Parts: sequence; structure tokens; C-alpha cells
Amino acid sequence: MREGGGCADGATTEIDMPDIIVLMGPQGAGKGTQAHMLAERFRLPLVATGDMLREIALTDGPLGLQVREVQTAGRLVSDDILAEVIKTRLSKADCERGCILDGFPRTLPQARLLETISEELGHIIHVISIEVPRELLFKRLSGRRTCSSCGAIYHLEFKPSQTEGVCDLDGQPLFTRSDDHEESIARRLALYDEKTRPLLDHYEQSGRLKKVDGTGKPEDVFDRIVMASGLQDASESILSPNHSV
Ligand code: AMP
Repeated sequence: MREGGGCADGATTEIDMPDIIVLMGPQGAGKGTQAHMLAERFRLPLVATGDMLREIALTDGPLGLQVREVQTAGRLVSDDILAEVIKTRLSKADCERGCILDGFPRTLPQARLLETISEELGHIIHVISIEVPRELLFKRLSGRRTCSSCGAIYHLEFKPSQTEGVCDLDGQPLFTRSDDHEESIARRLALYDEKTRPLLDHYEQSGRLKKVDGTGKPEDVFDRIVMASGLQDASESILSPNHSV
């Protein structure tokens, strides 16, 4: 999946730390956009479980059907399925230096599983919570439009495509994701409060949590994330004259 946007200044930085950056926040907080920007800037793979599950949902067979039904209803796919999906993905070679996680973990069992996997792989987990008021979340989600071909994301008000209903990048039609319809949005936000918000306490207690204001321009939110996560220091040392980038 690609975003219509990119990094604030277009630069990329390779960081030398095998860390897992977990982006948390309800749907509409901008996790996807920020995850793409971080992945591009720090040359880390982006692991977005929502995208991976949407691909599985397109496949024939019982697993595809099960995932499709659960996603369309705006519910959570089972922890067992997620365990398989995430273990397989994080064990791939491109995750050796770490990765950006978008949409995982979403439940306490998933958080515990991630801790086990990261210990095995020798990765440190950093958690960033992107904080956005509820009314703004609703507005962002209900106006979101996605390209049916490349996955680029637009917004009717905040980031319209040049021609209404058509992707700027490849000219393909835009659509409203089944889980971006109003009833589904309300259900997903309630589900976040019930199942995922408790994870913030879990991570706060372990001292891993950094909270970031998610309102305003994506570039400003990106800068806040880089500062809060300490990636700023890593990028500065790597950008120093003694390092080639
Ligand atoms: P997202 O694109 O992250 O909003 O995810 C879209 C949908 O995929 C969610 O509403 C869930 O149905 C499913 N999903 C994604 N990640 C997870 C997860 N970690 N646990 C359970 N379900 C998930």
C-alpha cells in the first residue's frame, strides 16, 4: 500500500538499532500515514496487520472468508490468526534491523506475544501513542477514500484528489473501505476503548510509552514522533559528517 504523501524533507536515514516501533492510537489517528513516513525515513520495513489481513481476506478458502467477515463487521480478527501472521512476518530477514508496527498489538495477549518475539529476536519495543480528539477521528474516518488499485489514501476535506473519486497516482477509482462506513467506525472506536486502550496502561507501567499530539499537519506529527521516540538522536548521529548515509 502506498500513501499519497511522503517525508517532511524527503531525506532518508538508516538507523543502526534493531528496534520495534509500535504506533498506537484509534483508527483515524493517522497511524498509517505516520508509519509510512517513519518507514521511508528510517528505511525500516512497515508491518501493517490491517493491510496483511486485507490481503488474506481476498484469498479463497475458509481463512479468507473468516477474515473478510470479521473485517467488514469492524470486529477484531482472533489472536490465534494474528499470532501466525505476525510471527511469520517478523521472522523474515528484512525485520532483522527492526520494523515499524502499525495496528499490532491490539489486545493484551498480542502485546505479550510481541514481548516474547522481541526478546527472542533481541529487539527493543518503543511505543508511541498518537492522541486525537474523538470528534476529529470520526471526521477523518468518514471522509477517507482509498485507491482501489494502489491503496493511496485521500480525504474528501483534508486531502482531496485532483479529480473527485479518482486516484492522482494511477487514475483508478477511489472507494470507501467497508470499515470506514459510519456504523462500522462507531463499533471500531468502541472496540478500541474496550480492547486496545488498556494496552496504553500496560506500556505506561513498563516505561515504554510516549504520547504524541496527533492533531495538525502530518509533517508536524511526524516531527513530534521522531523527537518523542529518540529517533532524532539516532538520525543526528548517523547524519553526522563521520557517517555516510
Ligand atoms: P486497520 O487497517 O489497522 O484499521 O485494520 C483493519 C481491520 O483489520 C481491523 O478492524 C480488524 O478487523 C483487523 N485487524 C488489523 N490488525 C489487527 C489486530 N492486531 N488484531 C485483530 N484484528 C486486526
